[in-house]
Amino acid sequence: MGSVVPLRPDLVNMEGYHSPQVDVAVRLNTNEAPLPPPQAFLDALAEEVRTTPFHRYPDRRAWDLRRALADLHGVRPEQVFCANGSNEVLQCLLLAVGGPGRTAAVFEPTYRLHSHIAHITGTGVAIGQRHSDFSLDLQEVARVTTEADPQVTFLCSPNNPTGMAEPKETVEAVAEAAPGLVVVDEAYGQFAPWSALSMVSDDRAVAVVRTYSKTWSMAASRLGYLVGPGDLVEALEQVALPYHLDSLKQAAGRIALRFRAEMEARIAGVVEERGRVAAALAELPVETWPSDANFILFRPLRVEGAKVWSELVKRSVLVRDCSAWPGLDGCLRVTIGTPAENRAFLDALTEVLG
Ligand code: PMP
Repeated sequence: MGSVVPLRPDLVNMEGYHSPQVDVAVRLNTNEAPLPPPQAFLDALAEEVRTTPFHRYPDRRAWDLRRALADLHGVRPEQVFCANGSNEVLQCLLLAVGGPGRTAAVFEPTYRLHSHIAHITGTGVAIGQRHSDFSLDLQEVARVTTEADPQVTFLCSPNNPTGMAEPKETVEAVAEAAPGLVVVDEAYGQFAPWSALSMVSDDRAVAVVRTYSKTWSMAASRLGYLVGPGDLVEALEQVALPYHLDSLKQAAGRIALRFRAEMEARIAGVVEERGRVAAALAELPVETWPSDANFILFRPLRVEGAKVWSELVKRSVLVRDCSAWPGLDGCLRVTIGTPAENRAFLDALTEVLG
């Protein structure tokens, strides 16, 4: 039956984007941090709760948080835009730079929200393909950017869900070739060997997007940010809703930055575990890809990916089923968890693969 509401026809048949939230013991499907934030962070935040003037609107421009992030990255606060998760950063970006009659370029397989949010904001999507090893194909980048003349070109480094970071020369080459803004989504940037943050300046159309959801153990807070040219940041402030960042979130983001050493130790722990999981996967009948992130993409060789996914769920282990995504036939993606979670995943997978 049709809706009584005159919905946008282009949204009616659009697939939603979600990872099933199944009730299992071991959740390795959404690339969260395996550990909660340090206790001292929670104590400082609790103190902040006690002193926050809840009857007042938050600082609309989130200056204290932006100043703290600017110090962290060696940029000006005017070059930092914060929002409710990096997904809202991406949405604001496409509201400000995309929209009807404009185009965003993506290179598949990559983070699906880039094209999903483009569709929602009425932005056209130009799709290019990666090489078969999932590295970026610069000839394909040249073809797509020449044909589509996109206002926005999305890169994702390390790329979700395939795992590899782009080499600096590649990002530099894309920034040279692309006619509009190049957005480097670095949701997993802290795990990577280098960051495109070093490429940001006011006179270059390059922006980097980051999140507190992964390495800062703050997925529940929904906080992400962009570092980019000042005039882009001004435009993003224009399209964001007034007071979109609540006071507690601003404080949480600011306080988290005091715990950088703890965060770095956790990254080292995840990277070490990633090595162990990769080594164990290499002994199983699966194809795997190298990862610079906190997850690993793999393809079971003898059993269908979707079947492996549901057999893992039966064993109370949840991974991401990418098996029906374009270019990822039969693939699954596992987040690196605690040593115990990783053991449980590997034991279950070994059993499922016989
Ligand atoms: N970008 C990439 C590449 C991601 O994988 C994710 C999380 N799945 C996000 C952005 C969004 O993260 P958040 O909205 O939690 O900041």
